[in-house]
Amino acid sequence: MSVDVEELRQSVAETARQLGRKGLVLGTAGNVSARAGDVVAVTATGLVLADATIGDVTLVGTDGIVRAGPGEPTSELGLHLGIYASSEVRAVVHAHSSAAVALSLVADELPPVHYAQLSLGGRVPVVPFAPFGTAELADLVVTAMRSRSAVIMAHHGSVATGHDLAAALSNIELLEWLCGVYLSAAAAATPRAMTDAQLAATLDEVVRRSYGTTARRAED
Ligand SMILES: [Zn+2]
Repeated sequence: MSVDVEELRQSVAETARQLGRKGLVLGTAGNVSARAGDVVAVTATGLVLADATIGDVTLVGTDGIVRAGPGEPTSELGLHLGIYASSEVRAVVHAHSSAAVALSLVADELPPVHYAQLSLGGRVPVVPFAPFGTAELADLVVTAMRSRSAVIMAHHGSVATGHDLAAALSNIELLEWLCGVYLSAAAAATPRAMTDAQLAATLDEVVRRSYGTTARRAED
């Protein structure tokens, strides 16, 4: 597999700037990575994501050894590598997004509150607090991330994955929006979660429509 690592580093820097621009991180918070083969491009530690350039993105092997690039990788490198080691995802983003942090203070999970949440794998757990950059935190997130593409870390922030950087960014934005919806509702009354039957009916509709699209394409 040929990997254009410079393009990969450029894409990571662009996604990091977008996280900053969209207000999902403050200051040096947050980090971004993308994998191609056995190489991971990851933002450096102490970086203001909103100002990220290709020069702030380090290349690390999936074995954790720095291959090239500036400075030290993010202190959450273990979390990123752990997710890549246990899944087929190609991108990981981590933010200190306010609604996700706020939800982590009052709930143990984000229950399914909107059908779009199915694209994250349904309910999103809040993993217990562990200090940033620790193997304990990485293990909690990696375990919770199995079978879903977003996790909330108590008193810390959000993590989302995707088949590419755009998908991971979109997933973390969706998670933040869903957390905001939940908290708005919770301010008024106890939010009603979607039922298993509602979720199953939505999944049936997704399957029916994707089958319809495939069938129509086959007819073309
Ligand atoms: Zn963090």
